[in-house]
Amino acid sequence: MTHDARPAIPHQRHDGTPEHITSVTEKGAFAVAHCSCGWHSPARRSRDRARRDAEEHHTASAT
Ligand SMILES: [Zn+2]
Repeated sequence: MTHDARPAIPHQRHDGTPEHITSVTEKGAFAVAHCSCGWHSPARRSRDRARRDAEEHHTASAT
């Protein structure tokens, strides 16, 4: 069976605007948010806090 499977992560746009794809990685007791643009948050004690950092980065980068 063949079908046109699209990648889960979109490619970087060719118009010069990088995609900001964030993810949260847990390091022991801490959580750190990473972005595809190279940004990462400080280590947080809370995964929710790290996720919020990622959302704020995403919002700040969109403007
Ligand atoms: Zn970013």
